[in-house]
Amino acid sequence: MKREDFPKDLQPLIIPEPSGRLVYRCLGCNLEAGIEELLYTCPSCGQVLLLHDEQFDRLKKVPQKTWHRLFDYRKMLRIPAMKGIYRFHEFIGPVIPLDAVVYLGEGHTPIVEANAALQQQAGFRFFFKNDGQNPSASFKDRGMASAMSYIQYLIQTGKVSEVLAVCASTGDTSAAAALYAAYLRPRVKSAVLLPHGKVTPQQLSQPLGSGAAVFEIPGVFDDCMKVVEALSEDYPVALLNSKNAWRILGQESYSYEIAQDFSYDVKDIVVVVPIGNAGNITAVMSGFIKFLQAGVIDHLPKIIGVQSHHANPVFRYYQEPDSQKRRFAPVTVQPSAAQAAMIGNPVSMPRVIHLEQLYSRLAGEPRVFFVEVTEQEIMDWELTANRNGHIACTHGGECLAGLVQAAKRGLVSARETAVIDSTAHALKFAGFQEMYFQGRFPEEYGITPDPQLLNAPVLIHPADLDKVPAPGLPLTGKDFDRFVASVSRDIAQKLGLH
Ligand SMILES: *Cc1c(COP(=O)(O)O)cnc(C)c1O
Ligand SMILES: [Zn+2]
Repeated sequence: MKREDFPKDLQPLIIPEPSGRLVYRCLGCNLEAGIEELLYTCPSCGQVLLLHDEQFDRLKKVPQKTWHRLFDYRKMLRIPAMKGIYRFHEFIGPVIPLDAVVYLGEGHTPIVEANAALQQQAGFRFFFKNDGQNPSASFKDRGMASAMSYIQYLIQTGKVSEVLAVCASTGDTSAAAALYAAYLRPRVKSAVLLPHGKVTPQQLSQPLGSGAAVFEIPGVFDDCMKVVEALSEDYPVALLNSKNAWRILGQESYSYEIAQDFSYDVKDIVVVVPIGNAGNITAVMSGFIKFLQAGVIDHLPKIIGVQSHHANPVFRYYQEPDSQKRRFAPVTVQPSAAQAAMIGNPVSMPRVIHLEQLYSRLAGEPRVFFVEVTEQEIMDWELTANRNGHIACTHGGECLAGLVQAAKRGLVSARETAVIDSTAHALKFAGFQEMYFQGRFPEEYGITPDPQLLNAPVLIHPADLDKVPAPGLPLTGKDFDRFVASVSRDIAQKLGLH
């Protein structure tokens, strides 16, 4: 639809012009800094930053109904820049002009209701939101589209000419960074640091295929993170980890989409997300808070953050009920099937602490909860979900296990509806399914396969067949007829067909 085809009152708003005034704001000392340069931490106190729109109040003047209609009508625009996370331009990056927006198909991921059998087994009404259906097959594309659009904006306005984007990754950040950087070549190049042997073969293939410089480092993610932090302090590189506040901003789109998916009525919605470096849960809280403050929604949904007992520093922190007595302590991680969340010292912890307080204060009651699940539960629920028509990754399984756990602890009730974040595509983590099916999980995981969930291919080679086809060596005539007849007979027998 073209601008003139939209309702008259929406025509001036439907295609947004740059607006607002974004600044970095420090969560430690409240210092504000302009966005002319890329900052990751406060120049004064070293704390992490969030982006803040100093003119946010202008958004409160737009009537609620106008927002709802505006976002819904924008679905009909054919402008690439408006097809992804920037449908929510006023909230995602209002200063970014549309011609700086990089769109590779991210956002607006499907929300799929679980079938009756799975809902019954989980004891809850829920949907999966399939963020594995983003271009690099994880939710990281949301934040990367935002960070890279900002970089493209800096290039277009002559503030920088060339950018070397670097990140540390448990696999998916590097896939996303390398993909978006490849699209912006030659002005943008990327280098990624991965913990050696701690990303899946699929995740490793992604930055390699996109042409990034790929470095494998001994240790775990937390070690890689320290190295890129040192690099970004000493050299002119752009850090693309979620320490970069532009990443958080883009990932807020996840909340806006959920609001839109439920027609902006999220009072009885429970949003379940896995926690690793805690960028995702930061963005989810921040997004809903902004929609509430602007009057787009009237209530904040409940949020459940889930961690594996093998990487649970955030869960541990919130175990202490008295907020005054809580003390954060990093943990040493153990191997986890939710490998992209295997982080012991989350960079966004100060953001979580800050936003959890604000969130529950605005809601008037505790509204963010944290649960932990076992490795066994993660795998069993992932495989169970996928046997019921989903494409959940291990973190999707972790979230579903977390919902079941939250129900056991009385944190959620049957009148609520959950949205489970499957943060990546099942295929990225197929190796864990394979280890489960083949009984090859190393002991440290503590996973014993449930025989009911096992599956394996069956080789059909009937004993009475002397000739079988091979690549380049087809069978013909009677030999081929015999092959087809005898193989189909065997399959029918195995399937119990008569
Ligand atoms: C990065 C990632 C996570 C963890 O998200 P954080 O923002 O680091 O908390 C979970 N699942 C997948 C698939 C990821 O790639
Ligand atoms: Zn500061």
